[in-house]
Amino acid sequence: MSEKIFPLNREELLSVIAKYPTPFHLYDEGTIKNNLRALQEAFSWAPEFREYFAVKATPNPRILSLLAANGAGADCSSLPELLLSKAGGITGEKIMLTSNDTPADEFQQAIALGAIINLDDISHIDYLEQHAGLPKCLSFRYNPGNLIEGNDIIGKPTEAKYGLTRDQIFDAYRIAKEKGVRRFGLHTMVVSNELRTEAFVYTAKLMFNLAKELKEALDIDFEFVNLGGGIGIPYRPEEKPVDLSAVGAGIKEAFGAIMVPAGLSRTAVATESGRAITGSAGWLVATCLHEKKTYKDYIGLDACMANLMRPALYGAYHHITVVGKENALADHIYDVTGSLCENNDKFAIDRKLPKIDIGDVVVIHDTGAHGHAMGFNYNGKLRSAELLRREDGTIELIRRAETTDDYFATLRFAGASVAI
Ligand SMILES: *Cc1c(COP(=O)(O)O)cnc(C)c1O
Repeated sequence: MSEKIFPLNREELLSVIAKYPTPFHLYDEGTIKNNLRALQEAFSWAPEFREYFAVKATPNPRILSLLAANGAGADCSSLPELLLSKAGGITGEKIMLTSNDTPADEFQQAIALGAIINLDDISHIDYLEQHAGLPKCLSFRYNPGNLIEGNDIIGKPTEAKYGLTRDQIFDAYRIAKEKGVRRFGLHTMVVSNELRTEAFVYTAKLMFNLAKELKEALDIDFEFVNLGGGIGIPYRPEEKPVDLSAVGAGIKEAFGAIMVPAGLSRTAVATESGRAITGSAGWLVATCLHEKKTYKDYIGLDACMANLMRPALYGAYHHITVVGKENALADHIYDVTGSLCENNDKFAIDRKLPKIDIGDVVVIHDTGAHGHAMGFNYNGKLRSAELLRREDGTIELIRRAETTDDYFATLRFAGASVAI
């Protein structure tokens, strides 16, 4: 079981809404810090532990600077994400570029920032060298093919576009070494929203064994093995959170059994978690605008899938509570919808909830990662504000809501302007 909490009481929330109208995402600083600390503690046994926060989960420099102040780096996969990291005070080897199908300007920016570069393909060695030069520390992303089952979000590794095959990865490090690279890391990312301890330990063993074989074959040391992100969170109240200390202990055992005898006892363990850090620390707050009764009962919110795509995209569950009715009987069945002209714009389908009245404030839980970030402007929908609740209880606006001016900003036509 995981308790679904919200950091503000009703009065506090209503006073925030008076200043910042719904919809908005609210993040909680204390929860973010606790989540990061729990991950760091699980790996405190490692010679060095590095968390490169996956910027795509919550691409806001205010959040990045908060994470940086608590020891995290950044995992980027686009040029703007590199610039966001820099804006958040994360530079040099605190940045790891793990992109794919990478354009030259992104490699150039990563090199300019002194980032660690993690290549997605063997052909990218030449491309990188030609367009940006080789970094001091180079890593490759391993795709284990049919050694791992895969899941709904990432898919089966053999069908996934990411990473190098086993044969390619041996060639890749050999070529990089011949080209003069002396510092190496090894990376994979094969699970997503995973809750099972065994899955993480299995991946770690696979990677430690690969590091050992690469060292034996090519006489190279590894500065780090990056196990990727994909640590899940219990979106459903009946799910249990990942037992991070069991994950850490299982990986510690594998490290002792594989890495230490292989002469890799000083290799750092790295992760690039997004969801596990910010997922449970964010909430989408919306207001009920309409109730509609046709073949089903619909609750229409002022938020839509532009604010949270996961339910529409993956059929993902996000817990919903109604402010002031947290303990009321869930004796109504609703589809909770947004206003986008797509029938999958539903935050919940056939969800048991207390009776919802027009004007009720609805909280959608666990939206801190891959929430606001995925938003789009389809159908002229505008993305919401982001607020941060500081540890002292104050509320900080860390991104304003988009306006129609923003929507028109990229258009070029005679007399383009909006007057409303
Ligand atoms: C998305 C992504 C992550 C983060 O995934 P989470 O599920 O948020 O932990 C990490 N690494 C890479 C390469 C990714 O694409």
